[in-house]
Amino acid sequence: MVDILSTQVALLLFESIFCFLSAILCAMKSSRDKKAKIVVTILSIMAGVLLLSEFFFYVCQGRSGQAASFGLHLSNLILFILCDLFLIGILTDFRVVLFGGFSIKKGQPCRKRSIFIILLSISGMIMVIISQFTGLYYTIDETNTYHRGDLFPLSVAIPIFGMMLLLSILLQYRKNTTRGRFLVLLSFIVLPVAGFVVQYFLYGFAYMDIGIALAVNIIFIENIVYQNRQIRIAERTDIRTGLANEHSCIEWIRARKAKKEILDYAAIYFDISRFSSINRKYGANTGNRVLAIFAESFAKELAPDEFLGHQRGDQFIAIVHKKNVDSLLSKLTDLRVEFTDDTGKECDVHLSVKAGVYEIENAEVSSEDVINYAATALDHASHTASDHSVVYMTKELMDTIEEKIRFEKKIRKALEKGEFHPYYQPKVNSRTGKLCGAEALARWMHKGELIRPGEFIHVMERNESICDLDMYMLRTICRDISKWMEEGLDVPPISINFSRRNLADPDLAEKIDKVVTESGIPKKLIEIEITETVDEFPLSVMKTFVDELHKRGYSSSIDDFGSANSSMAVLREISFDTVKIDKGFIDHDQDKDLTILDHIIKLALSIGLKIVAEGVEQETQVKKLQSFGAEVIQGYYYDRPMPEEKMRERLQDPQYKK
Ligand code: C2E
Ligand code: CA
Ligand code: CA
Repeated sequence: MVDILSTQVALLLFESIFCFLSAILCAMKSSRDKKAKIVVTILSIMAGVLLLSEFFFYVCQGRSGQAASFGLHLSNLILFILCDLFLIGILTDFRVVLFGGFSIKKGQPCRKRSIFIILLSISGMIMVIISQFTGLYYTIDETNTYHRGDLFPLSVAIPIFGMMLLLSILLQYRKNTTRGRFLVLLSFIVLPVAGFVVQYFLYGFAYMDIGIALAVNIIFIENIVYQNRQIRIAERTDIRTGLANEHSCIEWIRARKAKKEILDYAAIYFDISRFSSINRKYGANTGNRVLAIFAESFAKELAPDEFLGHQRGDQFIAIVHKKNVDSLLSKLTDLRVEFTDDTGKECDVHLSVKAGVYEIENAEVSSEDVINYAATALDHASHTASDHSVVYMTKELMDTIEEKIRFEKKIRKALEKGEFHPYYQPKVNSRTGKLCGAEALARWMHKGELIRPGEFIHVMERNESICDLDMYMLRTICRDISKWMEEGLDVPPISINFSRRNLADPDLAEKIDKVVTESGIPKKLIEIEITETVDEFPLSVMKTFVDELHKRGYSSSIDDFGSANSSMAVLREISFDTVKIDKGFIDHDQDKDLTILDHIIKLALSIGLKIVAEGVEQETQVKKLQSFGAEVIQGYYYDRPMPEEKMRERLQDPQYKK
């Protein structure tokens, strides 16, 4: 026969350890809801202490000696105090779940009942202390045996009365929480009360404590489940619009694929046109509100088995039935959104979108690719001037994209294999006919074919590999120069193109300096050419770069001056050494263009800049430029870009006969 006392003692010990472990887990778990975390941790600790005291109570009862007597007194005191203190603990948990916080300040719901429960709990604890001296609740005799006192029923009635008040709060505000959480809170009343009642009549087993501990266990488990669910919801939604995010879009598509329904659908990836102007006009907060209202009103247009998600910024994705695409797109041409701005004024805006559509035709396509294809179609739609344009992802478009990706890969490989080489195009002083510099231009030797920059630079600029190419060119050019110098040749400054993309790197000047210094060539032989940047970076970024170059002893030139973007601000703000006049300017021979060219040259010279005229092919152009004061010429008139061996020959004979 199993001894009932030993079973009970083991059970109490086991339960108390469980409660302490729960408390540790709960305290360590990172949680969004700090208040719930604190309450559940404290409740678990209290339950642990309660059960441990009960454990000691049974261990000490009936044993003789001082220690047993002390243990029995102490464990009983803690037990009775905790029974009352639990009222405050449960109240706090109820308030956090039902009202979102502990506070019982003026204006908070159920304030009076809550204060009453706290007072009840405190008076209960005072009674326990009084009974220590009077034996009202219980006495402990000289054989260390526990006896209920005359007022023992009061010690049970106080917590039960408090529980009933808590029940009234819970029932009144049950709508404030979910059914599941309501039941959990209800168990916190039912289980201990049932324990109290049973124990009252069936003395000798700790039903009440077990009831409390079970309730704490339930709360702990529910809390963990609830928080995990909250975290999952947060992972799947965008805070600004409350819409599903990309993660849940991927899951949604996966679910449709699993049900073999995906071929009925099309993805519409859309971007609100000129949304930044709304952000600028009304501020980012209102902008977010407009996005949320827009999303809400568009979501109403969708069928229940269609999906709307927020991607980033003002971009959304809808996965809809193919047959609904046209009607939805037409709704997106003009969607009116009404909102109140930060000052409380009623406003409205008409929004229109650019969209990319991908009609799913292959059930094997991955969720990520569904999004990618629609996004790429949008990318193409974005290049159109109209505020509302739609591009469908077609087989042809897909082929061009894949071709582009293949080409990009090929270029990266070529870079690794060292298939790029500098060609050098001389710069000549047209008065003396003497070679005075050269520009290095990249050439790609691929399977015996020479590929010019026009075919690869723009691709490399798009995927940033241009920065690797420019540094690679710099290293190769430094090597060529040092070789020429070793051969005793008189090397003039060589200019190297650096794409504007490089400017994103704040250490660019330092990196250039490191390469040049390590090669051991004089710094004055390297000049950095850079095109103007109004569109991408503020002028200050380019100014800092040019200043950093100067500090380290390098010169710089502004390339393609006079082509689309150039502005006087660049000349004024940035201390370039040289201006390279764009070929386009030199090709025009109308009076107006020539007058402008004349003035630009005079202006540049007057502020101490050097001039290089690019793309000069004819003698008449040379003469004209000379008359304007531009002497240094780079163009087919003198030489085409040439490989290193040819350039070496040119350096050996730097005098042109023309
Ligand atoms: P760019 O810097 O303006 O270089 C001058 C371009 O004009 C070169 O074209 C050159 O071959 C061409 N050119 C020179 N004289 C004449 C002429 O008299 N007539 C005609 N029709 N063209 C002439 P290329 O070599 O095809 O380079 C094109 C552009 O590619 C360059 O324009 C430059 O912006 C870029 N590029 C070349 N190499 C590199 C490089 O290593 N890095 C970077 N970032 N860009 C480079
Ligand atoms: Ca250039
Ligand atoms: Ca140029």
